[in-house]
Amino acid sequence: MATTDDSFNGLTEHCNDCDLETLHEISVQIRTESRKEENAQFSREPYRVAECQRCGNRSSQRMNNA
Ligand SMILES: [Zn+2]
Repeated sequence: MATTDDSFNGLTEHCNDCDLETLHEISVQIRTESRKEENAQFSREPYRVAECQRCGNRSSQRMNNA
């Protein structure tokens, strides 16, 4: 099992739309979340985004579980 992180960042995962194990492109997005109650405070949260290469459905998951 030789994986190269530099080339295609693909992973086989279950897609809810396809209801199948499909190839997903994985990327990481940093989202800035503004909190309504604290306007001055912004938090940057990394999200792991998986895009189904079959149907194009995207699912994102917050990476910080703290
Ligand atoms: Zn799909």
